[in-house]
Amino acid sequence: MRQNKKKYKAINMKVFKFGGASIKDVEGIKNVANIIKKYRSSQLIVVISASGKITNALEEVVNAYIKGQDDLNTKWQFVKDYHLTLLNGLTEDREGSGELLNDLFAEVEWVLEEPPARTYDYVYDQIVSIGELLSTRIVSHYLNQEKIANKWVDARDIIITDDTYREGKIQWSETQKKTKEIILPIIQEGTVCLTQGFIGATKDNETTTLGREGSDYSAAILSHCLDAEAMVIWKDVSGVLTADPRLFENVQKLDKLSYQEAIEMTYFGATVIHPKTIKPIQNKSIPLYVKSFLEPDAEGTIISQFSDLNYPPVVMVEKNQILLKITTRDFSFVVESHLAMIFDLFAKYRIKINMMRNSAISFSVSVNNDSGKIDSLCSELEANFNISRQDGFQVYTVRHFTDQMIEHLKENKLIGMEDRTDKTLQMAVKDIPLMTLKH
Ligand code: ASP
Ligand code: MG
Repeated sequence: MRQNKKKYKAINMKVFKFGGASIKDVEGIKNVANIIKKYRSSQLIVVISASGKITNALEEVVNAYIKGQDDLNTKWQFVKDYHLTLLNGLTEDREGSGELLNDLFAEVEWVLEEPPARTYDYVYDQIVSIGELLSTRIVSHYLNQEKIANKWVDARDIIITDDTYREGKIQWSETQKKTKEIILPIIQEGTVCLTQGFIGATKDNETTTLGREGSDYSAAILSHCLDAEAMVIWKDVSGVLTADPRLFENVQKLDKLSYQEAIEMTYFGATVIHPKTIKPIQNKSIPLYVKSFLEPDAEGTIISQFSDLNYPPVVMVEKNQILLKITTRDFSFVVESHLAMIFDLFAKYRIKINMMRNSAISFSVSVNNDSGKIDSLCSELEANFNISRQDGFQVYTVRHFTDQMIEHLKENKLIGMEDRTDKTLQMAVKDIPLMTLKH
């Protein structure tokens, strides 16, 4: 048994993950191929997302199909044309290359031809999963053309989940078994294993997805199951930054992060890595590198088993928040039985609480503005409580805060709620509206 295990440990095995932004156009795919080329001496498993914003476009296809909208065909045709254009732009010898995607297009068209018969979430996974299947087909085709030996593997043969559509839960032992059976022989002969992020299948071969932005998680699952030496997430930024550069100026790159710090940061809304990514690799002490696909030779960030690192303040922002203040109808205290009832409802509607605070007669939360869910939640809560709701907030979470940083962040802001612990300060804020002068 022991010896078998040892045999599985491949030398210098790396799992790479490329997101939609890295393969959004012809230039992007060529760049990805160049990065793969540089690492050809390693055993490589390459996990890829759907190209550009195709997952959003496919969500629109799903909605048009479910609602029976007239523009369904236009929306689906957009997805097809997008991929055909990408493929044409990369193909030297076009003869026959158009066929490359036909069976995948047909998979969706079979679904679209019949009226929806199963749940929204089921239909969603059958259609949206095609984005990753299409992008990887195209990348694989281009790698072949560039003489980079690779094998396209259908992630649905490897990543086995339960039947929670749109949020498949990994069945670890089956996934582990399939990963070794299917991937090891490929990489051991020096071929790049190319597969999809985000998608999986149930034991009965029904396609599932792992939740939006789940490709990082797919790469972490494979790294875990294969005992990879390292995992690399290739991004359009230089590594993990102290804040989102689209929102703040003067951000810095963090050279090193502990797993624990990365878990905290992603939990509080750092979008650079999917929150579920860290645990599977932490359990096997696999280092995670976050590097720029635009500057592949630069250092990036390394996330590993570090202790005693000193961090600068790191700011995470959750936009589009609703503050809900829940009070008892008779102004009695909010006690445990109330809280149990309230939390049950949040769990029922799968609403993540980004911030919460309770006082004697109220319980306040900040949640994402997912209006369908929030409306249903509020109407159930209203059976027992008074609810006041304020829209348009953002939650700032600052790890390793300094007073100066907090003061700066609070400038010109209305504070809806604030909470601080030893290392973390959170506040729900809103821009102070401009006052109208009356003449
Ligand atoms: N393509 C999927 C999404 O956009 C998964 C991912 O990108 O990680 O959500
Ligand atoms: Mg994506």
